[in-house]
Amino acid sequence: LDIDVVNLVSLCQTILKQLKEVYKREITLHFEQAPILIMADELKVKQAIIILLDNAIKYSNEKIDVFLEKNDLHAIVRVKDYGIGIPEEEINNIFERFYRVDKARSRETGGFGLGLHIAKRIMKLHKGEIKIQSKEGEGTEAELLLPASLEME
Ligand code: ATP
Repeated sequence: LDIDVVNLVSLCQTILKQLKEVYKREITLHFEQAPILIMADELKVKQAIIILLDNAIKYSNEKIDVFLEKNDLHAIVRVKDYGIGIPEEEINNIFERFYRVDKARSRETGGFGLGLHIAKRIMKLHKGEIKIQSKEGEGTEAELLLPASLEME
């Protein structure tokens, strides 16, 4: 890992600006404090955030909300969409390599089922976590939890 100080607020602002221009979607960033600073590998964290946003874009047609928070333990990036959602019985499978929910597989969205597997690995490298909550037909909330302070070896 290439660890340095990362400002999650400005990182997300940059990512959202680019994705909004390319995909012409309404994506809103919500945060109550700035900056939110963590020690992390900026490029890898960026990749994980893009994976969540790419999924939100692929599996919904409505607006997307991104929330940034920090507490004593974690800095949190939460991506919320109002799209097709994930059936409850599939939630445990979606982090597997090459796994795609049937509906997604038959959609024209492309994708190899690698994104979440990669995002999970990136979180593991940071001693962080990825959590997904979803309701079929209502939408999905995907969360990256990064340690508020990463201890260096
Ligand atoms: P890619 O390799 O391009 O990321 P993918 O999107 O299929 O392809 P993952 O990001 O690993 O792969 O997601 C795995 C599966 O989980 C998807 O195929 C889809 O079925 C489901 N999924 C992930 N995110 C969402 C979401 N926001 N809404 C609905 N389904 C989702």
